This record gives sequence, structure tokens and C-alpha cells, in this order.
Amino acid sequence: MKLWAIVENGQPLQCLERPDPQPKGSEVVVAVTHCGVCHSDLHFWKGEYDLGGGNILRLADRGVQLPRAPGHEVLGTVVAFGPEAEGVAVGDRRVVFPWLGCGTCEVCVSGNENLCLKPCAVGVVRDGGFGSHVVVPHPKYLVDFGHVDPAVAATLACSGITTYSAIKKLQPLDPKLPILLVGAGGVGFAAIRMLQAMGHTNIIVVDLSLEKRAAAIAAGASHAIDGNGDNVVQAVQAAAGGPLMAAMDFVNIPSTAKMALECLGKNGKLVLIGVGGGELPLSLAGMIFRPRQIIGSATGSLQDLIDVIALAKSGKLQPVPVTCVPKDQAFDAMMRLKAGTVTGRIVLEG
Ligand SMILES: [Zn+2]
Ligand SMILES: [Zn+2]
Repeated sequence: MKLWAIVENGQPLQCLERPDPQPKGSEVVVAVTHCGVCHSDLHFWKGEYDLGGGNILRLADRGVQLPRAPGHEVLGTVVAFGPEAEGVAVGDRRVVFPWLGCGTCEVCVSGNENLCLKPCAVGVVRDGGFGSHVVVPHPKYLVDFGHVDPAVAATLACSGITTYSAIKKLQPLDPKLPILLVGAGGVGFAAIRMLQAMGHTNIIVVDLSLEKRAAAIAAGASHAIDGNGDNVVQAVQAAAGGPLMAAMDFVNIPSTAKMALECLGKNGKLVLIGVGGGELPLSLAGMIFRPRQIIGSATGSLQDLIDVIALAKSGKLQPVPVTCVPKDQAFDAMMRLKAGTVTGRIVLEG
């Protein structure tokens, strides 16, 4: 098998040859046909996150070892499985649930492996979809996507469930009330589609990029506001007709989180999704005189992936725009994402 792997942080990916995986126990080997390229892959490539206050979270400190193939939006064909794998057949085409945990703790057993304290995610701790093959520990992590376009279905494993699980955290919310969406990149754009699939009709987007604002309006956002301005909060509240009850920050840097929090009225909720990094000064008394909730959200659960794929199969979830490129252009695709010139998702094929 081949791996397009991070060998050294911040350096071009290298193509490595490895023996084909031999599945044991309940393991399933999936030959990857599609893999989305996510901003998290870029953070992984850099190898660190800005925690704010001068603190850096290094992936090496989280037990991530190189070389490793990134890629967690994985879809492919089952080519082999171990003697204890049931309900799976060679030739099955499936989306892989990537957000694995230890598999045995209370959190994992309750179905929230994405929140396990010992993460074992595909494309982070295990080799991911930038390789020719992915090993999945159990067939339950494979979801049948029916007739959904495979390039789009692959993206549901991260951008799909990340948006779905974030929107659930804003509920209950009257679907006619405005929702602020900060950052209309790959995951933000997917959020527009997911909000629409979940019945929300009043979506206010803030983005720095003219192209992304135009794409958001074309996708049905009610307003798209330039985040470069001095009066972004006023512009958002004018578009909304007053303070908002719901906001999602897909960038999540100090300026965007502060702006989104300022847009909210009493009892409004801000869900933080991006990993831009930094820290947020918070007026503590202000949180009493204008009570609001700030909620962190990390990907989603296996059940979320099953629910999102059911939404896509039903036709309610409109696809995000995808651009397919050959897998040997993986590094070029990452650099395009880094440059901020991608609308929707780049998906590696083959
Ligand atoms: Zn992702
Ligand atoms: Zn666990």
C-alpha cells in the first residue's frame, strides 16, 4: 500500500510504500477511493495549535507519531476483513467514521467516541485517507451511503457531522430566527447546507472573502457581510433585525469569537467549531447582565454520521461543491486550502 504521509511537520508530503495491511479480529481494510481535504489536515501538517496565552498544543504531545497519512473524510471499498468482522463483504462501498476513541471507556461505550480522552482518530493517530488503504477496527464504523455522490458522501465524515452536531447544540431554536455563521470555508459552507436541511431559513454569513460571500448568497444565505469592516456587529444585527439568539464560529480566532459573542442577545448561544486558536477576554459581569452561552463542539458521533447520511440519502441535504483531484496532488490541495482559495471541498480521488 501507499501512504502520502507527513514525515516532517511543515514539509511536503512524501509517498511511502508499506506492506498491504492484514486484518486481524474484527478489523476491516478499506481501499480508499475518496478523501476530503480538511483544515484540520493543515493543522496536523503544521503540528501545533495556538491555545492562547503563549501556550502551544503540539500533536507530538498528544501521542501522534510521524510519519502519518492524514485524511479523515474517507470513503472506499472493503477489500479484506478479519475472522471476527461480521455484516461486511468484499466490495461494500462505505463512509468511514474516523473519530475513534479507545473503544472501551464509558464515553466510547455510550457512543461518544469523538469525546474519548484517548483519541485514536483515523488520519491523526491512525493512518488516514491520504493512504491507499485504511484499517478500521470494526465494521460498525462503516456507513452505507446508498446513491449519494461518493465525493460528497466522503465529506460528511467531518464537515457533515461537525456542522450537524454544532447545529444540534443551538437547539431548541425557531427555524425562522436568524443564525450567524462566521467563516464560509469548507465546513462553514457545509453548515449552510446543513442548516437548510434542518429547516433553518435565515442564515447570516460573515466572511473576509468576496468569493466566499458570493458563494454563500448563491447557496441561499440571507445576508453575507464583509468581516473586514469596523462595524461588523452593527451590520450583523441590522441584517438580523436586532441581537441574535444563535451563532457559530467556524474560524474561532479572538476577533471572530468576540464579534460573534457581541452579536448575541440575552440567552443567546455561541458554538465554537474552528481551531484558529488564541484566547478570548471575557467581561464576567457582562455575562450576568447579558447572559449568554459559549459552547465548544468537536466533530460528532457515529450516530451523527448515520443521521447525516440518512439526511443526504433523503435528498434534503444539498451537496457542498466538491473539486476532485488525483491523490498524488494531495500536498498541492493542502496548499490551496492554506491559501484560502478553495470554495467548498477538495476531495482526493483514487
Ligand atoms: Zn475535518
Ligand atoms: Zn474511550
